Amino acid sequence: MSEQDYRDDIEKVDAHEVEVEDNDKNDDDEYEKVCFVCRRPESVTGKMIQISQNVCVCNDCMQKSFDAMKEGKIDYSQLMNMPGIQFINMSDIQQQVPQKQKLKKKKEGEKRVPLVDIKNLPAPHKIKASLDEYVVGQEYAKKVMSVAVYNHYKRVATDTMDDIEIEKSNMLMIGPTGSGKTYLVKTLARLLDVPLAITDATSLTEAGYIGDDIESVVSKLLAAAGNDVEKAEQGIIFIDEIDKIAKKKNTSQRDVSGESVQQGMLKLLEGSDVEVPVGANSKNAMVPLTTVNTRNILFICGGAFPDLDTIIKERLTKQSSIGFGADLKDKYDKDKTILSKVTVEDLRNFGMIPEFLGRLPIIFTLQGLGEDMLVQILKEPKNAILKQYQKLLALDEVKLDFTDGALRAIAKKAMKKDTGARALRAIIEEFMLDIMYEIPKDDSIGQVTITEGYINNTGGPIITLRGQEVPQIGNHA
Ligand code: ADP
Repeated sequence: MSEQDYRDDIEKVDAHEVEVEDNDKNDDDEYEKVCFVCRRPESVTGKMIQISQNVCVCNDCMQKSFDAMKEGKIDYSQLMNMPGIQFINMSDIQQQVPQKQKLKKKKEGEKRVPLVDIKNLPAPHKIKASLDEYVVGQEYAKKVMSVAVYNHYKRVATDTMDDIEIEKSNMLMIGPTGSGKTYLVKTLARLLDVPLAITDATSLTEAGYIGDDIESVVSKLLAAAGNDVEKAEQGIIFIDEIDKIAKKKNTSQRDVSGESVQQGMLKLLEGSDVEVPVGANSKNAMVPLTTVNTRNILFICGGAFPDLDTIIKERLTKQSSIGFGADLKDKYDKDKTILSKVTVEDLRNFGMIPEFLGRLPIIFTLQGLGEDMLVQILKEPKNAILKQYQKLLALDEVKLDFTDGALRAIAKKAMKKDTGARALRAIIEEFMLDIMYEIPKDDSIGQVTITEGYINNTGGPIITLRGQEVPQIGNHA
């Protein structure tokens, strides 16, 4: 290596270091330091003493440690157990505190700005129109959600209206798996550009038991908001599989993952200050805590509620005049929209406690998806699976087509799996694997048409070479 090369290399390394430092500076501007010993943020403790790159200690804790040492006559082993006196353990310092545990700093005198501005808040019909671009069917659900979200963010933006406090629009969605519950919420959060956390109620347990504490859902939201408390306070939390925390029937054991979780969630749903760990799921000595107010967080719960239809049928049969019971049962058995007749009473019979239901004032159902809807889902939404594959192959300059028969055959296969639209991707992926593997091998291929025969394993796809006529078989997607 010549001397000049050597010099160039050194300059490059220096430039890189300056860049890294600059990045750190940017982070430090936006994020607040947290004391390594007492876990209070710098806005509370005052200026911190930097011990190593990622470790700071506040003045109070430093002083306490010095005072304790100065007196000299201390039994160190006992001191460690005394409340309020802690030593900085050098071995802890070696483990670097992760960056994600820093909190976003509030600027002096900065006021809370609503994430969604009331003047620019899209009207319900506009929210629904945007949802329509992505979500097929579920008209009623989309309408209810658009209005509820609109009202919710109006409430957030105005805070309170004189004496009239607008009630929170937390929602409960009931619908079979793969009908688009999670997808609706995800699309909504993206459209409104607010942070979203998705959790599963099955993993939640009462505080102190194995599993995630109930408050961990807020901590996830905080992470989704980039540890910015104010942003998180206006976000959306989606709790899936909410039916799994129904009250357990006939059990003599303490119900730590059912009724107690519902009880534990009451305060959260209504709005309260919760202390949440930053950058972790559970509270422990190594994790800084912060307070998040859940008053303006929109909670959406979703679940499939299996057998809820039986409860509804029983109620409807009982309500109607006595004597025609058998006739009616027959009628309700055939009714596909039975789930939409759900009442709060049915949900209580299912095992949800009244206080919990009371905090989810907006209850609505989603329909199970039929064959036609599945075909639509394959090709119509803005980011439909077909469009995704077409784009992938277009990058190889190959046109991808599906005949109508092929789409229907895929939908039929998906219907058999009984997991709604979820099955679609798995089925398509299986058939597309060979195509995606083989096509790039041969430059002369210009178009691939997936046929019904290929999906039903009775034939192959139609391959057309560049410059060749495309054969006509049925309609194409
Ligand atoms: P669940 O109701 O079980 O929460 P998901 O929302 O997770 O179901 O749906 C699984 C996938 O199926 C979604 O990621 C989405 O791609 C697709 N999907 C489901 N329902 C619809 C729908 N109505 N419109 C468009 N895509 C849908």
